[in-house]
Amino acid sequence: MSGLNSSKRRTVLKGAAAALAAALTGCASVSTSSAKPRVVVVGGGWGGLGAVRTLAASGKVDVTLVEPNTSFMSCPLSVLYIAGNAPASDFQRSYAVLDTLGVRQIRERVLEIDRAGKAVKTATQRLPYDYLVLSTGVEYMEETLPGYAEAREQLPVGFRAFEQMAVQREVATFLEKGGNFIITAPKPPYRCPPAPYERACLIAERMKEKGTKGKIILVDANPNPMPPPIAKPVQQAMQQLYAGQIEYITNADLKSVDAGKKILATSKGDINFQHANIILPMRAPGLIRQAGLGQRWADIKLPSFQSQADENIFIVGDSQGTPLPKSGHVAFGAGQQVGAQILDMLAGQYKVPGLGDNVTLPSGICWGKVSRTQAIMINVSPSIEVGQPPQMKFQVDPAHNTASSKGAMEWGNMMWDAMLGA
Ligand SMILES: Cc1cc2nc3c(=O)[nH]c(=O)nc-3n(C[C@H](O)[C@H](O)[C@H](O)COP(=O)(O)OP(=O)(O)OC[C@H]3O[C@@H](n4cnc5c(N)ncnc54)[C@H](O)[C@@H]3O)c2cc1C
Repeated sequence: MSGLNSSKRRTVLKGAAAALAAALTGCASVSTSSAKPRVVVVGGGWGGLGAVRTLAASGKVDVTLVEPNTSFMSCPLSVLYIAGNAPASDFQRSYAVLDTLGVRQIRERVLEIDRAGKAVKTATQRLPYDYLVLSTGVEYMEETLPGYAEAREQLPVGFRAFEQMAVQREVATFLEKGGNFIITAPKPPYRCPPAPYERACLIAERMKEKGTKGKIILVDANPNPMPPPIAKPVQQAMQQLYAGQIEYITNADLKSVDAGKKILATSKGDINFQHANIILPMRAPGLIRQAGLGQRWADIKLPSFQSQADENIFIVGDSQGTPLPKSGHVAFGAGQQVGAQILDMLAGQYKVPGLGDNVTLPSGICWGKVSRTQAIMINVSPSIEVGQPPQMKFQVDPAHNTASSKGAMEWGNMMWDAMLGA
């Protein structure tokens, strides 16, 4: 690690710690009086929890979180569970603390947004809102790969919370029996671009340890590992550490998959496999598109994250369709920002940034683990001159190293505490 990167990481960690402290201030005074303005947050993942914690800490609004899962599971760092290095519980947290903060929790899925009536509908409830925050993550574009939908159960993607269990079972069988394990990487934008390479590396490490006979075939729709700033260190790690385990095929478009015959047809030819982790192209969930909030991704205004179609709706996290990285760190920061903005709007104190103003956007930090003890850190500092596209400044480790691997776990624990710690 260079000194610059270490100090940058300390700054990022300090910033997140300060945000956490700010978010927790005043949480004891929260009540659920119905006279308060109502904010409904849909999605209890990274972005939703950033908004919930900030809003609940103010004590000034009634906060309702709608989330079908009974607990939280992190995608970041859960590769350690998928590869068999750590239990799933290391990456899970309870939602119980939200009860103590006065957040009303609805364990259901929102099925429809009634924009005209300013309410969301679940199977059993209609929840009115003054402001709505959506952080519903991604869905997979199954129709892009003929043969996939029929075989969905056998070919788990594992890029959403709790889906990691099905991928972990597939990996465990592969490590035992060997053969060809296909992992695919789609073209961006998709959730956490370094993740397919990270997954390949961590499984390859276990192959070496267990003496698994076979190989991982990494079928990439791109010419290099994504995002481009990490292409070199990722490729270097794959070559240095796993030349005997990973075959890397680039610029390969997927044509179809036959799960019965176990053949993946690609623009580079047919590939036989025994096991596969097909990582599909992604988009915002249907809920957002059906509400007229965007086509593939939600259309929002920056820097406010306000929907272009509806000023009472904010969309954060991976569903939003700007060039901001689809990262948990960015999602959490955007959730915090939107929570604070809503409070300012309600207090009549929100200052709309003017055309040409320079505004800092939520920063991102992403970790590409390449082994249990080595990782590559990617820092992104986005900003925007209002009216122009956002600009992204990347800082990337030149090579994999142990300091970033340690930093990754510290970051994970700090973020999970900020989301769901006391
Ligand atoms: C393997 C992997 C590694 C990653 N590593 C990193 C990393 O190192 N650093 C980093 O910053 N990011 C990383 N990410 C990315 C990070 O996980 C996402 O960017 C983050 O989860 C986005 O937050 P979100 O709130 O948009 O979505 P999520 O965290 O997925 O939350 C969405 C929530 O919405 C709920 N939901 C969906 N639809 C509805 C509905 N209709 N009604 C109610 N609830 C609904 C879901 O149940 C879910 O809980 C990684 C991702 C993966 C897959």
